[in-house]
Amino acid sequence: MTKIKVGDEVVVISGKDKEKRSKVIQKIPKENKLVVEGVNITKRHIKPTRRGQESGIVERETPIFTGKVMLICPRCGKRTRTGVKVLPKSPREKEKLRFCKKCGEVID
Ligand SMILES: [Zn+2]
Repeated sequence: MTKIKVGDEVVVISGKDKEKRSKVIQKIPKENKLVVEGVNITKRHIKPTRRGQESGIVERETPIFTGKVMLICPRCGKRTRTGVKVLPKSPREKEKLRFCKKCGEVID
């Protein structure tokens, strides 16, 4: 499974925004969903709730399933899946880092 974090650049692999590249702005782990900037935009009609407030249409991102996107490797620029490497951070500590399965580079 690809581990995707907020701020990662991803590409949409299915649905109406297929092939769109953008940034992850929110994670909803409970639902296994992500909010990706500019992806899966839905329009909502807003009714005026207070006097003087205008009604209108608001466009906003709706979350999409994590499985509908793939990470773009910041090192090689290819869409990829990630693996996890455990590397020593210091003699006593170890750190889990994601790496790109295409180029093998550590992502973070
Ligand atoms: Zn790579």
